[in-house]
Amino acid sequence: MRPASRDLMRAINQFNVLNTIRTAGSVSRTKLSEITGQSRASVTNITARLIAENLIYEKETRDSAHRGRRRVLLALNADAAYVVGIKLSAFRVSCAVTDMQADIRSSIVMPVRTSERPAGFVADLIEEGVRHCVKDARLKMDQIAGIGIGVPGFVDRKEGFCHWTPLYRKGERPLRDLVEKRLEIPTTLENDANAVTMAHQWFGDGKGVQNFVVITIEDGVGMGAVVNGQLYRGATGVGAEFGHVVVAPGGNLCRCGKRGCLEAYVSDFSILAAARKIYADLRWECPSRGELDLEDVMDAARRGQPELVRLFGRAGRLLGQGVAGLIQILNPSKIILSGQGVRAGDMMFAPMRAVVAEQCNPTLHDATEIVIHKWQDTDWARGAASLVLQALYKTPFEKIRPVI
Ligand SMILES: [Zn+2]
Repeated sequence: MRPASRDLMRAINQFNVLNTIRTAGSVSRTKLSEITGQSRASVTNITARLIAENLIYEKETRDSAHRGRRRVLLALNADAAYVVGIKLSAFRVSCAVTDMQADIRSSIVMPVRTSERPAGFVADLIEEGVRHCVKDARLKMDQIAGIGIGVPGFVDRKEGFCHWTPLYRKGERPLRDLVEKRLEIPTTLENDANAVTMAHQWFGDGKGVQNFVVITIEDGVGMGAVVNGQLYRGATGVGAEFGHVVVAPGGNLCRCGKRGCLEAYVSDFSILAAARKIYADLRWECPSRGELDLEDVMDAARRGQPELVRLFGRAGRLLGQGVAGLIQILNPSKIILSGQGVRAGDMMFAPMRAVVAEQCNPTLHDATEIVIHKWQDTDWARGAASLVLQALYKTPFEKIRPVI
């Protein structure tokens, strides 16, 4: 095995130091050395450079357990850098500016249809959102160190484009390049479920968990996996596409072009499409005047409309089949279900849990906690921002833009 290069080791050590300080809030050098496994000399060296670069600072406290002895703790300078996270959905664009700690300084959700629009139109929307949020946070554009965009679909992170996305049209210039050209800020394009997985790892249910899976249920069904503390990206970088695993061969047509994908039964989009068909035949009492929306469907199902109860039940069972497969293959400590789609609650998750229990070996089943977590739009954007921050934590100090 070749030894890791000095630059790589430096990046990893710096990341571990900054991330430990971020997680702890404030921490002594001795504790940092203990947690990161780095020598005291290495910690002293790295923290001295981080202090000189104003990325962290020293703060003094009195230790009540030791007769008020003076203690020096290290804390992150939240204002050392700012980043922007964007989440693209079929019917909205969410944008958030965060500081170095991933705390939101300003955010906006723009209810605009992005699906089937040209990539240039989507890039214009992103530009508007970023400029608005940066101004609202009382910052200037040149204080933004990077932009992360979370988008559903098969994303090539390196090249900054989507092999396939249910949103903007195919065959266009890479969205990342369009945004970078407009704003002149380094931009990263990432699968949206990966972004939310990173958010869970940084400040959600995945904090401190080495092996976990996040399944997102919204207009589509996404997945991100953390294996041994690292986001799993697969051989080509596309990573896990759980929503497009076929669970019903020859079944419903999916937006990706195949038949019988999980997403074609579980996503908000597919539930709504099926419910509209049922409504056209049965016309149950519906308080909303316009076209039937997902809230109407959930309300009617909760009131016991039998066809809709069956619809959510089938979605839950198919989801359970998929989740059971993940538990058998990956043996994760946690499976976190996130996104707007979790509003369906027990109508979907009770049948899901029953199938998971039935299809998993008890040892594996009992080792996995299933967590259902409603996730806000700004949390998705915050996840995209933390992807940028994660890269920033590894960057040589002089490449982080100076705060003016
Ligand atoms: Zn599909």
